[in-house]
Order: sequence, then C-alpha cells, then structure tokens
Amino acid sequence: MSEALHIACPHCHALNRVPPERLGEAPACGRCHRALFDAHPVELGVDHFAIHYTRSDLPLLVDFWAPWCGPCQVMAPHFAQAAALLEPRVRLAKVNTQNEPTLGQQFGIRSIPTLALFHHGRELARQAGAMATADIVRWTQQHLVARA
Ligand SMILES: [Zn+2]
Repeated sequence: MSEALHIACPHCHALNRVPPERLGEAPACGRCHRALFDAHPVELGVDHFAIHYTRSDLPLLVDFWAPWCGPCQVMAPHFAQAAALLEPRVRLAKVNTQNEPTLGQQFGIRSIPTLALFHHGRELARQAGAMATADIVRWTQQHLVARA
C-alpha cells in the first residue's frame, strides 16, 4: 500500500495525485494532459513557485540564475541534463532572479548561480557556483540521502 504523491504540473501547475509506483510510467497531468515529467527544468516565477515549493511531495531543486551571468549560461545545459537524470524523483526548476527579484530576496540569494534544494517548504541545502551535470546529480542525491 502506498500513498499517492502530490505532484505539481510543470506546464499548468495543477496539483496531481500520482501513486509512487506509477512515477516512472510517464504520468500525464489530469488538467492539461501534458507530461508531468519531460526531462526539462520548469521556469518558475513568483505566481507558481509556492505550489512546487510547499504543496508538491517532490523535492525541488532550483537554479537561481540571471541572463547576464556567464557561469549561469555555462551551467544551463548541465542543469538541463541533470533534470533528465533526476526526474521523476526530483523536480528541477529555474528562477530568473532578474525577472523575479522577489524570489531572489525571499531566499537571500547573494550570488548566482546558486542551487538550492527544498522539500515541503524547507531548505535542505544550497550551493553557490556553477556545477557540471554529474556534480549536480551527486550533490542532490547526497542531500536527499542525508535527510532520509
Ligand atoms: Zn498540467
């Protein structure tokens, strides 16, 4: 017996209920019918951040970045690859701190890129500076194991 997980859709942000054993079976959103996991980070703004941050049962790994930041551009493809590797156990998201200064302030982001790992509205870990795909995956799994 397993309890359904609440998973926020990366497209329409509706909260879906998915049995854990079905996570790997390409579940679709009950509202917009698009894939709940498409191996891409979701772009989050202040309107939809909270549902992924507090209501979803998936850990949320956020890349706080800005368009003018060179190391952020370098890390972007690595972060996208990490999404393909970490889904469906972790939701990866990007917050453009230039467009979303409120979120940057809320989390006290002082340098970019900064990666932060959240679960159920709590911060588990954060790390400033660009990382390669394997390091992003290892870092995330380390902190999730430490918590379990
Ligand atoms: Zn949807």
